This record gives sequence, structure tokens and C-alpha cells, in this order.
Amino acid sequence: MTTSTSAITPVVATLRAEVAGPVLLPEDPGFATATVGFQTYGPHRPDVAVLATTTADVRAAVRVAADHDLPVAVLNSGHGVPPRYTGGLLVATRDLAGVRVDPGRRVAWIEAGAPWSAVIEAAGAHGLAPLSGSTPHVGAVGYTLGGGLGLLARRFGYAADHVREIELVTADGTTRSVTARTHPDLFWASRGGGGNFGVVTGMEVDLFPVPTLYGGGLFYDAPLVGEALRAWRDWTSAAPEEITTSVALVPFPDVDGVPDPLRGRHVLHVRIAATLDVATGDEVIAPLRAVGPRLLDAVGELPYTDSATICSDPTEPMGYQTTNLFLDGLPDQALSGVLDRVGPGAPSPQVLEIRHLGGALRRPPAEANCVSHRDAEYLLGLTRRTPPDATPEQAAALRAPHAEVRAALRPWSTGASYLNFLDGDGADTERVRSAYTPENYRRLADTKARWDPRNLFRHNRNVPPTAPTSPN
Ligand SMILES: Cc1cc2nc3c(=O)[nH]c(=O)nc-3n(C[C@H](O)[C@H](O)[C@H](O)COP(=O)(O)OP(=O)(O)OC[C@H]3O[C@@H](n4cnc5c(N)ncnc54)[C@H](O)[C@@H]3O)c2cc1C
Repeated sequence: MTTSTSAITPVVATLRAEVAGPVLLPEDPGFATATVGFQTYGPHRPDVAVLATTTADVRAAVRVAADHDLPVAVLNSGHGVPPRYTGGLLVATRDLAGVRVDPGRRVAWIEAGAPWSAVIEAAGAHGLAPLSGSTPHVGAVGYTLGGGLGLLARRFGYAADHVREIELVTADGTTRSVTARTHPDLFWASRGGGGNFGVVTGMEVDLFPVPTLYGGGLFYDAPLVGEALRAWRDWTSAAPEEITTSVALVPFPDVDGVPDPLRGRHVLHVRIAATLDVATGDEVIAPLRAVGPRLLDAVGELPYTDSATICSDPTEPMGYQTTNLFLDGLPDQALSGVLDRVGPGAPSPQVLEIRHLGGALRRPPAEANCVSHRDAEYLLGLTRRTPPDATPEQAAALRAPHAEVRAALRPWSTGASYLNFLDGDGADTERVRSAYTPENYRRLADTKARWDPRNLFRHNRNVPPTAPTSPN
């Protein structure tokens, strides 16, 4: 709900007195660019945006918002926007983007706005790598708060499993150093609980001695897509933990910028990242190459600093709608259900991705966190491009195949979702609930009631606080 001009004016005056960074109203130049990032569909309309330049700015913004009962949203890269909201205060963190690496302790301190690319570069200078994901443009903090399923996930687990300290501005406007020792409940909940517990101004994460990878992509043309998909599924059953793979069905447009062999083709892209030497890696993926000729085969040794080339995710802002589900298995019937609806020749071009899970993802971290559903075998995601100005009816038509694919996969779906891939209006309360086991969800809601009982931080993938129980 929008706050009236008479109510917002004193808020803005206080913010401008207390915050060093720009404080913008919707009519101010720069407001539109400050409030939109990668995702351009489903615009948000906060009453006021604070472009934080220091952690003190974040603290002041949260305190002022709390004093005036204004909900607080956080925007960094815009790769995981929450359901559409109107009103409240937006804290934009992209100018708070420092990264410090301590090579001796193999850790990085990452400020709220740093993209993975900055961490990869800083760590790479010391032969180290973070647990980053498919694209280095995603914000490291936002990604880690939601779990963080990375290129080397089967080898090292979730990024949230390797956080040492979180600097968090809680709903009372206090900055807290959150560790397993200082605030066990917040530490457990923040690693996997998204932005529900405050604004993170920085975090310390582990780095790993991975200067180079065995990795890249294999691309199969439409006639081989079904066979390659089945071969990949069979191969995953015995793949070692050192190798993490995913497959994507991608309908490439026939436009400049798409590599020539892929232009205008609907392909299967097998994405590979492994901590293996080239000879062992080639041996391990031989059954995938044996399927037949590839349009492109670019798997080999590459520096971790080039790891963005493995998935080649889009980098320019775009509008899209997504859905995702964890799966226990992928029998032929499940694969046919997917291919019939979104494979080559299907009426509705969608990007479909299936990630192979297992390995270290199954094991709880040394310090438990709320990341759930560790037993699932695969994670499936669907993405449909959607113009920023699509009407609700147009948007619904574009995402219709999502429901069809979900229905076709019901027998093999665990019913659970992955928090980080819940986006826009698809990140409603029920889908967020499905990202956790019932026990973890209850514990998250209780933690929320303790630290943010008014749900100040609700413009996110929200876990509402447990309702207070009556004293009688
Ligand atoms: C192309 C693409 C590739 C992706 N690849 C992966 C992947 O490989 N693995 C994976 O796990 N995820 C992946 N994601 C999902 C991504 O990690 C999540 O959507 C994540 O939330 C994005 O964080 P952000 O800060 O970049 O985005 P934003 O949209 O700016 O933020 C998303 C949400 O994160 C929370 N948040 C961000 N920063 C803070 C903060 N400082 N304090 C408190 N809350 C905060 C807020 O609730 C905010 O609404 C991908 C997304 C896209 C679009």
C-alpha cells in the first residue's frame, strides 16, 4: 500500500538528514534505475528508495522505516525479485560492493552489493574460488542467503553451508555480528532463510583452492535431444561427487550474438564443472560424448575466473517468469512429459534446466542451517521470457506451460521448491513454505517472531512470523 504524501514527507526529511547516499522519491531522476535490476517484469513501486553507500546508511534506513512502520525491501542485482509490492522503503545495496580476501584463512568478506564476479576475481588472484553459481552477475549475499546452489555444489555443498559470520541490521535498526556463537537462532535461520531477518551488510564465507576447473558445455542438436537427455540421466546415477552437471533445453533465436552453430536451433546444453584433471574428466564424461556429434563441444581445462562460460547465462536485463521443483527421479515417462511440452517442436519455447544434486548437498553442514530437501536427486526450473509491460492475461498465457510441466511431473516431484529460484509473483507464501521441511519452516517462523514480529522485512520471499499466542 502506498503511503500518503503527507506521511512520507517527514520520513524522507529524516532519511535525507541521516543517510549519506541518495534518497529518492518516485518523481526523482534515477528512481526508476535504482529500483529495477536484472528482472524487468513485475515492477515494484516503493514509496522511497535509499541508495546505501555505507553500512551506517543501511542502519539509519531500517531505523527510520521501523519508526514509521514502513516495510523494508532490499534490491541488489535484481536476479531474484520478490512478489510485486507497492509502498515501503527500498534499500538498494549495489554501491556497497567491497570484497576483502584473506588468503591465509581462505575466506572472503563480501559486502551486501558485491556480485560474484568481484569475489571470483579477488579470490582468483590467490588461486582460490568461492561457491558461486551459474552466472557471476548474481549478488553473492542474496544468493548465499537463499542457499546457493553453485557450479561445484556436489563437491562442496550449498554456499550457505560455508558462511562464517553475517553482519545483519535487524528490525530494531541494530547492527549485529551473527555467528553460531553469538546468535545461534539467527545464524541458523539466515543461512537459507533469505532476507527475512534483516538487511545483511556483509558476510564472511569460505574460499576453496580451485584455481582451474575441468568444465564447459556440450551442445546437442534437436534430433539428439531426447537421446542425450536420457543418456545424461543414466550417467548421473554413477557420477562422482567431483563433477556437478546440469542440462538446459534452450531454444536459441536466430539473431546476431548467438554462436553460429546454435543460431535458430533448439538444443540440449550439458553444463559441466568438475574438480578433475582433463584426462580423468574426459574419461568420466565419455558416455555423454558417445551419444553422438555435438554442435559445440567446449569442455576442457579453464580457470575458475572464466567459469561464467560454462552456463553462458544471459547478462542483459530481461523480463521473465519462473517455476521450479525438486524431483526424486527422472524416468523415461517424466522426460517425455517434459519434452512433449517444452522440447524441440513443442508449441511454447521455454528454457528448461535440470540440475543434478546429491553428493555434498545431501550432507548437513558442520553448523546446521535451514536449507531443506537435501535428499532430492534433481532440481528442475522453467523460465519464460515475459515483456515488462505484459498484461496479467498475457503473462498468465506465457506461463501456462509451467503448470502443465508441473502436473506431468507430479509423480516424481517431492512437492518442494528451491527458495533461490522462486521469483516474482511465483514467490508467494505457499511456495516459500514448500522450500522448507515443516519443522524448519516452523522454526523459521518462530525465529521471525522473535526478531521481526511486525514483519518489517516482508517484501521478500517471505516467512511470516508465528502469530503470538494468547496468554490465556
Ligand atoms: C540468470 C540467473 C542465474 C542464477 N543462478 C543461480 C545459481 O546458479 N544458483 C543459485 O542458488 N541461484 C541462482 N540464481 C538465483 C539467485 O541466486 C537468487 O535469486 C538470489 O536471491 C539473487 O540475489 P541478488 O541479490 O542477486 O538479487 P536481488 O533480486 O537484488 O535480491 C533478491 C532477494 O534477496 C534478498 N537480499 C539480497 N541482498 C540482501 C541483503 N543484503 N540483505 C537481506 N536480503 C537480501 C532480498 O530478499 C531480495 O529480494 C540465479 C538467478 C538468475 C536470474
